[in-house]
Amino acid sequence: MWRKLPLIWKILIGMALGMVWGVVAVLIGAEKFTSDWITPWGIIFLNLLKLIAIPLIFVSLVKGISSLTNISKLSRIGFKTLALYISTTVFAIMIGLAMVFIIKPGNTFSDEKKAEYTEKYQRTVEEKEVTAADQKEESPLRVIIDMVPENIVKASSDNSKMLQVIFFAILFGVAMVMIPSGKVKIVKRFFDGLNDIILKIIDLIMLFAPYGVLALLAGLVVDFGGDIDLFAALGLYAITVVIGLFILILFFYPALMRIFVKVKLRDFFRALLPTQMVAFSTSSSAATLPVTKEQVEKELGVSEEISSFVLPIGVTINMDGTSAYQAIAAVFIAQVYGIDLSVGQLFTILLTALLASIGSPGVPGGSIVMLIIVLSSVGLPAEGLALILGIDRPLDMLRTVVNVTGDSTVASIIARTEDEIQYPPIKETVEKEELVEIS
Ligand code: ASP
Repeated sequence: MWRKLPLIWKILIGMALGMVWGVVAVLIGAEKFTSDWITPWGIIFLNLLKLIAIPLIFVSLVKGISSLTNISKLSRIGFKTLALYISTTVFAIMIGLAMVFIIKPGNTFSDEKKAEYTEKYQRTVEEKEVTAADQKEESPLRVIIDMVPENIVKASSDNSKMLQVIFFAILFGVAMVMIPSGKVKIVKRFFDGLNDIILKIIDLIMLFAPYGVLALLAGLVVDFGGDIDLFAALGLYAITVVIGLFILILFFYPALMRIFVKVKLRDFFRALLPTQMVAFSTSSSAATLPVTKEQVEKELGVSEEISSFVLPIGVTINMDGTSAYQAIAAVFIAQVYGIDLSVGQLFTILLTALLASIGSPGVPGGSIVMLIIVLSSVGLPAEGLALILGIDRPLDMLRTVVNVTGDSTVASIIARTEDEIQYPPIKETVEKEELVEIS
């Protein structure tokens, strides 16, 4: 029975049991037992996720970038695609940040409690402040200097140096694109295979997720002294993500479509609804790609040439919903732990969330590992991940809807600027003409 249960249910059950155990442990005074015998399993789960983070980011970035071989042929369209993908993602992250700062889901604790937690994590904050002070004295360009590794092996050995690995991966990918494809054919196939292996490893690690989540949550609840406010915070966090994502789906993309593509909103939603439903139920923008392509071509009249170039790239590198959620999650975790983020750290969150959207695979839960990168880049406790993991799946479904809507919108805008769109699509015009003839 347990074996046949879908993973999401197992994780939810694990989460619930972990919380219940945490509260019971506080009531019966089994805190030490919990931290000695239960929490370590959660740490093992976290370590497994961290373990795969660097290989995943390196391989998926190289694969993503090197798949842009068409960029030289279609350099103009390529440039526009990248520019639009990046700007929509940055906008989505800003919406996410705005929402999390307006709603403040992690601030449900009383001031005293906050002070208590802040003190608990004071050391992390102090360490950060020292580094920040050092950086200030050194050079305003420190952030950029820190992004360029002097030794890739050293950079790969430290999860907080993820940006350096990303830098090297981008360099590697770009160099691959610049070399004649015949010469790097084997390397490409190697990276394709490696990518599949890493995705499989993630699948295997996720089998352990229900137990890991149980252990981590039990530990967290004990850590927070069985505080009920923690659950209120969690609910509010989910609401924040949902509101942020709905703003994108209902206002941002429709506005772009209306202004730049001149598509009637009703047509836009009618065209995208099937794509959105598939995205919602599969939680995978990669699996949704065939439907996205078909709908964009048939219902919005985007030419096949544009859709088959822009959409696959989008699935790999454009995940607006994912990056908005990552920004919200990171700030939420900081709020829960009473850690104040500086402007510089917010900027790092923006940058890493943008890069994580490029590096996340379009599969269910693809961005969870990437969230570790965002968290560690600003020194936030990775344990915070356990808080949000249990309610991740429904949010994943919704952010995948945003991801595919973003891809479709960008494809339509590019088609419009290239005069490669036939809207209303021919199919409809023909149908209407036929109707007129028949009547
Ligand atoms: N499931 C998302 C997608 O496929 C990725 C993620 O945010 O985990 O687009």
